[in-house]
Amino acid sequence: MIEYFLPILITVLLIGFSIGKPYWKEHQRNKVKNRPFKKEWRKIIQNRMPYFRQMPTDLQLQLKQHIQVFLSEKSFVGCNGVKITDEIRITVAAQACLLLLNRKTDYYPKLKTILVYPRAFIKEQQTINADGVQHTQKTALAGESWDYGKVVLSWQDTLDGAEIPDDGRNVVIHEFAHQLDQENGKANGAPILGKRQSYQCWSAVFSAQFEQLKMLANTGSPSLFDYYGATNPAEFFAVASEVFFEQSKQFYQQYPKLYRQIQQYYHVDPLHW
Ligand SMILES: [Zn+2]
Repeated sequence: MIEYFLPILITVLLIGFSIGKPYWKEHQRNKVKNRPFKKEWRKIIQNRMPYFRQMPTDLQLQLKQHIQVFLSEKSFVGCNGVKITDEIRITVAAQACLLLLNRKTDYYPKLKTILVYPRAFIKEQQTINADGVQHTQKTALAGESWDYGKVVLSWQDTLDGAEIPDDGRNVVIHEFAHQLDQENGKANGAPILGKRQSYQCWSAVFSAQFEQLKMLANTGSPSLFDYYGATNPAEFFAVASEVFFEQSKQFYQQYPKLYRQIQQYYHVDPLHW
């Protein structure tokens, strides 16, 4: 009898666990959100995110709650001598959570760890040239988003990005936009859209602007978007996200269709902050 009973019991427990897990997670997150938000943390946000005070109060509250969940679920690791402080954790979390406002979110589910380097870090990549000879290429990076588990950031670049909130450059927004894009596989400039948004429309508007940026980059013409966005659609999405949050006015004036697509995606409208 036991040989029948045991597998049934295990199956029932497994089903119960998989059904109950999301509710348990939600319950835990609500508990974390309801904890009092430290005054020192609020000061760090105000210092590092100048437009925080201009945001509608319900978004300010949401942001603080998201930061609490983010900090309770992600770990920070200092590299090359960086000592992780609240200043680092809050500055990164606040900008990362800016991308999660006003919608259902699972808080970058694949991400476990944020590695923080003092300044731009060197990445070595093996490349093979036309003659088939292997080379080691060294590139200095301000940030990097892995498909699974990690975001790497330069603290100096993070500070620079936060300090000037209207220059359209923000490494944290950039790397976390990649994380969102990576939720449905490799980053490709097509993140998971909300129910009311059409992939067809996204793709048409997005591709047209991407092609235009490639052309501007090729001819060296002035562009609101950094030429780096012309590298591939994934980089274009990340660069457009930086400009959306930091130069919303210019973005809307120059590219209203793309602005509306990205605004629908992020469910916020920084034009009115
Ligand atoms: Zn990138």
